[in-house]
Amino acid sequence: MASPSYGVANDPHPAHGSILYLDGVHVAFDGFKAINGLSLILAPGELRTIIGPNGAGKTTMMDIITGKTKPDRGDVLYDGGVDLTRLDETRIANLGIGRKFQKPTVFEHLSVFENLELALKCDRRTLKTLFFLLSSADRTRIEEVLVRIGLAEKRTHLAGVLSHGQKQWLEIGMLLMQEPKVLLLDEPVAGMTDHETEQTADLILDINRDRSVVVVEHDMEFVRRLGAKVTVLHEGSVLAEGSLETVQQDHRVIEVYLGR
Ligand code: ADP
Ligand code: MG
Repeated sequence: MASPSYGVANDPHPAHGSILYLDGVHVAFDGFKAINGLSLILAPGELRTIIGPNGAGKTTMMDIITGKTKPDRGDVLYDGGVDLTRLDETRIANLGIGRKFQKPTVFEHLSVFENLELALKCDRRTLKTLFFLLSSADRTRIEEVLVRIGLAEKRTHLAGVLSHGQKQWLEIGMLLMQEPKVLLLDEPVAGMTDHETEQTADLILDINRDRSVVVVEHDMEFVRRLGAKVTVLHEGSVLAEGSLETVQQDHRVIEVYLGR
């Protein structure tokens, strides 16, 4: 994939080698600057946690990456050079960016297995119809995901009877069926029990072994368990970035977020 031209020939664009590259991104809603000069670089295979007060622009950032919201200006590049601001949501999803919203949206009247099967069939890249027969390779993939999300023993249960946490894992599993290169998770442990939260951290660490993951979350114990680089958003731009220990000691972060 061609990189945008930048500087002299042997001076690569700063997006070179990144999986996500946001620079100088601005979005205003009726004059309110929800995203205000946001810059963020995610390396291939990286796990990144995003924290910040309500209204900081965390969800809007995910809306911009996934094409739901178009920035007023700024660079949003995928995989070293693909301009995401020119693509629609479907195209971006098909390029390998999976996104999970806060509320689980599983099909409650279908079984756990059928939910994963449906996610496989909805994969537009493969042009499968709802009536196609599962190949043994497809079955193997579903089985792998079932084990990964800890629902192998619940495969025949209706999704509607799962706990809130299990529904969240099933939805993550449905995203995994599409084999995204980048997974964006918006507050995945909200409403979970402590035990489910711990299990979700382990699931995300496991998922991160073969793809990049961006997690927005408020739960500091969960953020600590992930052990990833943390980006603190505030008023639509990056306030601090580094290890959790580093950002927790930053007096500006304490003032706007942690100390309240
Ligand atoms: P966070 O996820 O960090 O809590 P959001 O990204 O949801 O913050 O919101 C950032 C700000 O932008 C908030 O003040 C919110 O009200 C505003 N906002 C987000 N989306 C829209 C929209 N579609 N129209 C108007 N205002 C919006
Ligand atoms: Mg949000």
